[in-house]
Amino acid sequence: MRDVFNFGAGPAILPESVLQKAADEMLNYKDSGMSVMEMSHRGKEFKGIIEKAEADLREIMDIPDNYKVLFVQGGASLQFSMIPLNIMNKNKRCDFINTGQWTKKAISEAKKFGTVNIIATSENDNFTQIPDITSDMLSKDADYVHIATNNTIYGTAYNNIPDTGDVPLVADMSSNILSAPIDVSKFGIIFAGAQKNIGPAGVTIVIIREDLIGNAGDKVPALLDYKTYADAGSMYNTPPCYSIYIAGLVFEWIKEKGGLVAMEKLNKEKADILYDYIDSSKLFNSPVRKEDRSLMNVPFVTGNDELDGKFIKQASEKGLKPLKGHRTVGGMRASIYNAMPIEGVKRLVEFMKEFEKDNK
Ligand code: PMP
Repeated sequence: MRDVFNFGAGPAILPESVLQKAADEMLNYKDSGMSVMEMSHRGKEFKGIIEKAEADLREIMDIPDNYKVLFVQGGASLQFSMIPLNIMNKNKRCDFINTGQWTKKAISEAKKFGTVNIIATSENDNFTQIPDITSDMLSKDADYVHIATNNTIYGTAYNNIPDTGDVPLVADMSSNILSAPIDVSKFGIIFAGAQKNIGPAGVTIVIIREDLIGNAGDKVPALLDYKTYADAGSMYNTPPCYSIYIAGLVFEWIKEKGGLVAMEKLNKEKADILYDYIDSSKLFNSPVRKEDRSLMNVPFVTGNDELDGKFIKQASEKGLKPLKGHRTVGGMRASIYNAMPIEGVKRLVEFMKEFEKDNK
Protein backbone atom coordinates (compact mmCIF):
# COMPACT_ATOMS: atom_id res chain seq x y z
CA MET A 1 0.00 0.00 0.00
CA ARG A 2 1.21 3.51 -0.81
CA ASP A 3 1.93 5.82 2.12
CA VAL A 4 0.09 8.84 0.72
CA PHE A 5 -3.70 9.09 0.72
CA ASN A 6 -4.75 11.27 -2.19
CA PHE A 7 -7.79 13.43 -1.34
CA GLY A 8 -7.46 15.53 -4.51
CA ALA A 9 -10.65 16.54 -6.35
CA GLY A 10 -9.40 15.46 -9.78
CA PRO A 11 -7.38 14.10 -11.38
CA ALA A 12 -7.94 11.85 -8.43
CA ILE A 13 -7.03 8.62 -6.70
CA LEU A 14 -7.34 5.41 -8.72
CA PRO A 15 -7.61 1.91 -7.26
CA GLU A 16 -4.12 0.65 -6.48
CA SER A 17 -4.85 -2.76 -8.03
CA VAL A 18 -5.82 -1.03 -11.29
CA LEU A 19 -2.53 0.87 -11.39
CA GLN A 20 -0.67 -2.35 -10.58
CA LYS A 21 -2.39 -4.22 -13.41
CA ALA A 22 -1.60 -1.37 -15.82
CA ALA A 23 2.01 -1.50 -14.66
CA ASP A 24 2.15 -5.27 -15.22
CA GLU A 25 0.72 -4.85 -18.72
CA MET A 26 2.68 -1.70 -19.54
CA LEU A 27 5.31 -3.19 -21.84
CA ASN A 28 3.41 -6.14 -23.21
CA TYR A 29 -0.36 -6.13 -23.30
CA LYS A 30 -1.67 -9.69 -23.42
CA ASP A 31 1.25 -11.07 -25.47
CA SER A 32 0.84 -8.43 -28.17
CA GLY A 33 4.43 -7.33 -27.53
CA MET A 34 3.19 -3.73 -27.26
CA SER A 35 1.92 -1.27 -24.71
CA VAL A 36 -1.71 -0.20 -25.08
CA MET A 37 -0.24 3.27 -25.67
CA GLU A 38 1.48 2.05 -28.81
CA MET A 39 -1.29 0.12 -30.50
CA SER A 40 -3.48 0.99 -33.42
CA HIS A 41 -6.95 1.93 -32.30
CA ARG A 42 -8.20 -0.13 -35.25
CA GLY A 43 -6.41 -3.31 -34.18
CA LYS A 44 -8.13 -6.28 -32.58
CA GLU A 45 -6.59 -5.73 -29.14
CA PHE A 46 -7.89 -2.18 -28.77
CA LYS A 47 -11.24 -3.14 -30.28
CA GLY A 48 -11.49 -5.72 -27.49
CA ILE A 49 -10.59 -3.07 -24.89
CA ILE A 50 -13.16 -0.47 -25.95
CA GLU A 51 -15.94 -3.00 -26.50
CA LYS A 52 -15.37 -4.59 -23.08
CA ALA A 53 -15.19 -1.18 -21.40
CA GLU A 54 -18.55 -0.24 -22.88
CA ALA A 55 -20.13 -3.60 -22.06
CA ASP A 56 -18.93 -3.45 -18.46
CA LEU A 57 -20.14 0.14 -18.02
CA ARG A 58 -23.54 -0.85 -19.42
CA GLU A 59 -23.69 -3.74 -16.99
CA ILE A 60 -22.58 -1.73 -13.95
CA MET A 61 -24.95 1.17 -14.59
CA ASP A 62 -27.72 -0.99 -16.06
CA ILE A 63 -27.89 1.28 -19.11
CA PRO A 64 -31.03 0.63 -21.18
CA ASP A 65 -30.62 -0.50 -24.82
CA ASN A 66 -32.04 2.76 -26.20
CA TYR A 67 -29.04 4.68 -24.86
CA LYS A 68 -25.66 5.02 -26.57
CA VAL A 69 -22.39 5.17 -24.66
CA LEU A 70 -19.91 7.54 -26.31
CA PHE A 71 -16.23 8.10 -25.55
CA VAL A 72 -15.47 11.74 -26.30
CA GLN A 73 -12.53 14.09 -25.72
CA GLY A 74 -12.53 17.73 -24.64
CA GLY A 75 -13.39 17.08 -20.99
CA ALA A 76 -16.74 17.63 -19.33
CA SER A 77 -16.34 21.28 -20.36
CA LEU A 78 -16.76 20.49 -24.06
CA GLN A 79 -20.15 18.99 -23.21
CA PHE A 80 -21.25 22.45 -22.08
CA SER A 81 -21.08 23.39 -25.79
CA MET A 82 -21.95 20.06 -27.42
CA ILE A 83 -25.22 19.72 -25.51
CA PRO A 84 -26.80 22.97 -26.76
CA LEU A 85 -25.32 22.43 -30.23
CA ASN A 86 -27.01 19.05 -30.46
CA ILE A 87 -30.26 19.35 -28.55
CA MET A 88 -31.16 23.03 -28.12
CA ASN A 89 -32.87 23.00 -31.44
CA LYS A 90 -36.66 22.93 -31.11
CA ASN A 91 -37.56 26.02 -29.10
CA LYS A 92 -33.98 27.19 -28.57
CA ARG A 93 -34.59 27.42 -24.83
CA CYS A 94 -33.32 25.47 -21.87
CA ASP A 95 -33.72 25.46 -18.10
CA PHE A 96 -30.81 25.41 -15.69
CA ILE A 97 -30.49 24.84 -11.98
CA ASN A 98 -27.45 26.84 -11.00
CA THR A 99 -25.51 25.10 -8.25
CA GLY A 100 -21.97 26.37 -8.75
CA GLN A 101 -19.08 27.11 -11.01
CA TRP A 102 -19.65 24.18 -13.37
CA THR A 103 -23.28 25.03 -14.05
CA LYS A 104 -22.28 28.69 -14.46
CA LYS A 105 -19.77 27.74 -17.12
CA ALA A 106 -22.37 25.56 -18.84
CA ILE A 107 -24.87 28.45 -18.69
CA SER A 108 -22.49 30.83 -20.40
CA GLU A 109 -21.92 28.33 -23.22
CA ALA A 110 -25.64 27.53 -23.63
CA LYS A 111 -26.39 31.27 -23.89
CA LYS A 112 -24.41 31.33 -27.13
CA PHE A 113 -27.02 29.09 -28.72
CA GLY A 114 -30.36 30.17 -27.27
CA THR A 115 -32.29 31.39 -24.25
CA VAL A 116 -31.24 30.14 -20.84
CA ASN A 117 -33.77 30.22 -18.06
CA ILE A 118 -32.21 29.82 -14.62
CA ILE A 119 -35.14 28.32 -12.74
CA ALA A 120 -33.33 28.15 -9.39
CA THR A 121 -29.96 29.05 -7.97
CA SER A 122 -28.14 28.69 -4.67
CA GLU A 123 -25.66 31.45 -5.51
CA ASN A 124 -26.94 33.69 -2.69
CA ASP A 125 -25.99 30.96 -0.22
CA ASN A 126 -22.53 30.55 -1.73
CA PHE A 127 -23.79 27.31 -3.30
CA THR A 128 -23.94 25.55 0.06
CA GLN A 129 -27.25 23.89 -0.77
CA ILE A 130 -29.29 22.43 -3.61
CA PRO A 131 -32.44 24.44 -4.38
CA ASP A 132 -35.74 22.60 -3.92
CA ILE A 133 -37.36 22.05 -7.29
CA THR A 134 -41.07 21.59 -7.94
CA SER A 135 -42.56 20.77 -11.32
CA ASP A 136 -44.27 24.19 -11.66
CA MET A 137 -40.82 25.82 -11.80
CA LEU A 138 -39.94 24.00 -15.03
CA SER A 139 -40.65 25.60 -18.42
CA LYS A 140 -42.96 23.52 -20.59
CA ASP A 141 -41.15 24.57 -23.77
CA ALA A 142 -37.56 23.96 -22.71
CA ASP A 143 -35.49 21.76 -25.02
CA TYR A 144 -33.78 20.34 -21.92
CA VAL A 145 -33.05 20.92 -18.24
CA HIS A 146 -29.40 20.96 -17.12
CA ILE A 147 -28.23 20.02 -13.61
CA ALA A 148 -24.93 19.03 -11.98
CA THR A 149 -25.73 16.08 -9.72
CA ASN A 150 -22.63 16.64 -7.57
CA ASN A 151 -20.88 19.95 -7.10
CA THR A 152 -17.22 19.17 -6.70
CA ILE A 153 -16.16 22.56 -5.34
CA TYR A 154 -18.95 23.08 -2.79
CA GLY A 155 -19.60 19.49 -1.71
CA THR A 156 -23.32 19.48 -2.51
CA ALA A 157 -25.30 16.74 -4.25
CA TYR A 158 -28.88 16.05 -5.27
CA ASN A 159 -30.51 13.46 -3.12
CA ASN A 160 -33.65 13.70 -5.23
CA ILE A 161 -33.38 13.97 -8.97
CA PRO A 162 -36.02 16.41 -10.28
CA ASP A 163 -38.75 14.87 -12.42
CA THR A 164 -38.71 16.84 -15.68
CA GLY A 165 -41.49 14.86 -17.37
CA ASP A 166 -41.07 14.83 -21.15
CA VAL A 167 -38.32 17.44 -21.13
CA PRO A 168 -34.91 15.69 -21.34
CA LEU A 169 -32.87 15.97 -18.18
CA VAL A 170 -29.16 16.54 -18.81
CA ALA A 171 -26.85 15.73 -15.92
CA ASP A 172 -23.24 16.58 -15.32
CA MET A 173 -22.14 13.61 -13.20
CA SER A 174 -18.42 14.29 -13.47
CA SER A 175 -17.83 13.96 -9.75
CA ASN A 176 -20.34 11.33 -8.68
CA ILE A 177 -20.88 8.95 -11.58
CA LEU A 178 -20.47 5.32 -10.43
CA SER A 179 -20.68 6.30 -6.75
CA ALA A 180 -24.16 4.76 -6.33
CA PRO A 181 -26.82 3.10 -8.49
CA ILE A 182 -28.95 5.50 -10.53
CA ASP A 183 -31.91 5.07 -12.84
CA VAL A 184 -30.43 6.02 -16.22
CA SER A 185 -33.88 6.14 -17.83
CA LYS A 186 -34.66 9.35 -15.89
CA PHE A 187 -32.04 11.19 -17.94
CA GLY A 188 -31.72 12.31 -21.55
CA ILE A 189 -27.95 12.78 -21.32
CA ILE A 190 -25.48 11.87 -18.59
CA PHE A 191 -21.92 13.06 -19.02
CA ALA A 192 -18.80 12.84 -16.92
CA GLY A 193 -15.15 13.71 -17.31
CA ALA A 194 -13.17 10.61 -16.36
CA GLN A 195 -10.67 12.00 -13.91
CA LYS A 196 -12.59 11.35 -10.67
CA ASN A 197 -14.43 8.04 -10.53
CA ILE A 198 -13.60 6.63 -13.96
CA GLY A 199 -9.93 6.90 -14.87
CA PRO A 200 -7.31 9.32 -16.14
CA ALA A 201 -8.21 12.66 -17.73
CA GLY A 202 -8.62 12.59 -21.49
CA VAL A 203 -11.85 10.72 -21.99
CA THR A 204 -15.37 11.93 -21.24
CA ILE A 205 -18.24 9.48 -21.04
CA VAL A 206 -21.54 10.51 -22.62
CA ILE A 207 -24.60 8.33 -22.09
CA ILE A 208 -27.32 9.61 -24.39
CA ARG A 209 -30.85 8.52 -25.25
CA GLU A 210 -30.96 7.62 -28.93
CA ASP A 211 -33.71 10.05 -29.93
CA LEU A 212 -31.47 12.95 -28.87
CA ILE A 213 -28.84 11.96 -31.44
CA GLY A 214 -28.93 13.19 -35.03
CA ASN A 215 -30.57 16.56 -34.45
CA ALA A 216 -27.54 18.83 -34.80
CA GLY A 217 -27.71 21.09 -37.84
CA ASP A 218 -25.52 20.73 -40.97
CA LYS A 219 -23.21 23.47 -39.76
CA VAL A 220 -22.18 21.61 -36.60
CA PRO A 221 -18.63 20.27 -37.00
CA ALA A 222 -18.40 16.47 -37.16
CA LEU A 223 -16.51 16.15 -33.91
CA LEU A 224 -19.15 18.17 -32.06
CA ASP A 225 -22.03 16.05 -33.35
CA TYR A 226 -23.03 13.09 -31.15
CA LYS A 227 -24.09 11.22 -34.29
CA THR A 228 -20.49 11.08 -35.49
CA TYR A 229 -19.50 9.19 -32.33
CA ALA A 230 -22.61 7.03 -32.27
CA ASP A 231 -22.22 5.94 -35.91
CA ALA A 232 -18.51 5.18 -35.60
CA GLY A 233 -18.44 3.43 -32.22
CA SER A 234 -16.51 6.45 -30.87
CA MET A 235 -13.79 5.77 -33.46
CA TYR A 236 -14.42 8.40 -36.13
CA ASN A 237 -10.95 9.59 -35.23
CA THR A 238 -8.34 8.27 -32.80
CA PRO A 239 -9.92 8.02 -29.37
CA PRO A 240 -7.99 8.59 -26.12
CA CYS A 241 -6.96 4.92 -26.13
CA TYR A 242 -4.98 4.70 -22.91
CA SER A 243 -7.57 6.57 -20.85
CA ILE A 244 -10.25 4.21 -22.18
CA TYR A 245 -8.09 1.21 -21.28
CA ILE A 246 -7.66 2.39 -17.67
CA ALA A 247 -11.36 3.25 -17.46
CA GLY A 248 -12.05 -0.35 -18.53
CA LEU A 249 -9.83 -1.64 -15.72
CA VAL A 250 -11.72 0.58 -13.26
CA PHE A 251 -15.05 -0.84 -14.50
CA GLU A 252 -13.69 -4.38 -13.96
CA TRP A 253 -12.59 -3.37 -10.45
CA ILE A 254 -16.08 -2.03 -9.66
CA LYS A 255 -17.62 -5.31 -10.84
CA GLU A 256 -15.22 -7.33 -8.71
CA LYS A 257 -16.08 -5.20 -5.67
CA GLY A 258 -19.81 -5.90 -6.06
CA GLY A 259 -20.96 -3.12 -8.39
CA LEU A 260 -22.61 0.16 -7.56
CA VAL A 261 -24.61 -1.15 -4.61
CA ALA A 262 -21.34 -2.07 -2.91
CA MET A 263 -19.76 1.27 -3.96
CA GLU A 264 -22.65 3.20 -2.42
CA LYS A 265 -22.45 1.23 0.84
CA LEU A 266 -18.75 1.89 1.18
CA ASN A 267 -19.11 5.54 0.13
CA LYS A 268 -21.79 6.09 2.77
CA GLU A 269 -19.65 4.43 5.42
CA LYS A 270 -16.67 6.63 4.53
CA ALA A 271 -18.71 9.85 4.36
CA ASP A 272 -20.46 9.08 7.67
CA ILE A 273 -17.12 8.69 9.45
CA LEU A 274 -16.04 12.11 8.25
CA TYR A 275 -19.32 14.01 8.65
CA ASP A 276 -20.02 12.47 12.07
CA TYR A 277 -16.70 13.71 13.32
CA ILE A 278 -17.09 17.18 11.73
CA ASP A 279 -20.55 17.52 13.32
CA SER A 280 -19.22 16.60 16.74
CA SER A 281 -16.11 18.77 16.46
CA LYS A 282 -15.80 22.15 18.11
CA LEU A 283 -13.08 23.22 15.68
CA PHE A 284 -14.23 22.04 12.25
CA ASN A 285 -17.50 22.88 10.51
CA SER A 286 -19.23 21.81 7.34
CA PRO A 287 -20.69 24.78 5.43
CA VAL A 288 -23.14 22.54 3.53
CA ARG A 289 -26.83 22.04 4.33
CA LYS A 290 -27.09 18.58 5.86
CA GLU A 291 -29.59 17.05 3.45
CA ASP A 292 -27.54 18.17 0.43
CA ARG A 293 -24.15 16.84 1.46
CA SER A 294 -22.06 15.06 -1.12
CA LEU A 295 -20.67 11.56 -0.55
CA MET A 296 -17.71 12.43 -2.76
CA ASN A 297 -16.42 15.90 -1.85
CA VAL A 298 -16.43 17.02 1.76
CA PRO A 299 -15.49 20.66 2.38
CA PHE A 300 -14.80 21.78 5.95
CA VAL A 301 -13.44 24.89 7.65
CA THR A 302 -12.15 26.07 10.99
CA GLY A 303 -13.25 29.65 10.26
CA ASN A 304 -9.66 30.85 10.67
CA ASP A 305 -7.57 31.04 7.49
CA GLU A 306 -4.29 30.75 9.33
CA LEU A 307 -5.42 27.63 11.16
CA ASP A 308 -6.72 26.14 7.91
CA GLY A 309 -3.28 26.71 6.37
CA LYS A 310 -1.58 25.05 9.32
CA PHE A 311 -3.93 22.07 9.10
CA ILE A 312 -3.32 21.62 5.37
CA LYS A 313 0.44 21.76 5.84
CA GLN A 314 0.57 19.36 8.77
CA ALA A 315 -1.84 16.92 7.11
CA SER A 316 0.34 16.90 4.02
CA GLU A 317 3.38 16.04 6.14
CA LYS A 318 1.41 13.02 7.36
CA GLY A 319 0.70 11.87 3.79
CA LEU A 320 -2.88 13.22 3.73
CA LYS A 321 -3.04 15.45 0.66
CA PRO A 322 -4.01 17.63 -1.11
CA LEU A 323 -6.64 18.91 1.33
CA LYS A 324 -6.75 22.55 0.32
CA GLY A 325 -10.25 23.68 -0.66
CA HIS A 326 -10.90 25.09 -4.13
CA ARG A 327 -9.26 28.47 -4.62
CA THR A 328 -12.66 30.16 -4.89
CA VAL A 329 -13.98 28.91 -1.52
CA GLY A 330 -10.91 28.35 0.67
CA GLY A 331 -10.84 26.06 3.72
CA MET A 332 -10.33 22.35 3.25
CA ARG A 333 -11.87 19.73 1.02
CA ALA A 334 -11.48 15.97 1.25
CA SER A 335 -12.50 14.19 -1.94
CA ILE A 336 -13.34 10.61 -1.07
CA TYR A 337 -14.11 9.01 -4.41
CA ASN A 338 -14.75 5.28 -4.92
CA ALA A 339 -11.04 4.43 -4.90
CA MET A 340 -10.33 6.08 -1.52
CA PRO A 341 -9.94 3.22 0.96
CA ILE A 342 -11.80 3.50 4.26
CA GLU A 343 -8.37 3.49 5.99
CA GLY A 344 -7.65 6.84 4.32
CA VAL A 345 -10.77 8.42 5.83
CA LYS A 346 -10.02 6.91 9.24
CA ARG A 347 -6.48 8.28 9.10
CA LEU A 348 -7.80 11.72 8.16
CA VAL A 349 -10.26 11.76 11.06
CA GLU A 350 -7.57 10.59 13.48
CA PHE A 351 -5.40 13.47 12.35
CA MET A 352 -8.29 15.96 12.60
CA LYS A 353 -8.88 14.84 16.20
CA GLU A 354 -5.22 15.24 17.05
CA PHE A 355 -5.15 18.67 15.43
CA GLU A 356 -8.25 19.75 17.34
CA LYS A 357 -6.69 18.66 20.63
CA ASP A 358 -3.48 20.58 19.88
CA ASN A 359 -5.28 23.75 18.74
CA LYS A 360 -7.96 24.29 21.36
N1 PMP B 1 -18.20 19.44 -14.10
C1 PMP B 1 -17.83 19.13 -12.85
C2 PMP B 1 -18.88 18.77 -11.84
C3 PMP B 1 -16.47 19.12 -12.51
O1 PMP B 1 -16.09 18.81 -11.27
C4 PMP B 1 -15.52 19.44 -13.50
C5 PMP B 1 -14.02 19.43 -13.24
N2 PMP B 1 -13.58 19.27 -12.02
C6 PMP B 1 -15.95 19.79 -14.76
C7 PMP B 1 -17.30 19.77 -15.04
C8 PMP B 1 -14.98 20.18 -15.85
O2 PMP B 1 -14.34 19.04 -16.27
P1 PMP B 1 -13.16 19.04 -17.34
O3 PMP B 1 -11.97 19.61 -16.66
O4 PMP B 1 -13.04 17.57 -17.66
O5 PMP B 1 -13.60 19.85 -18.49
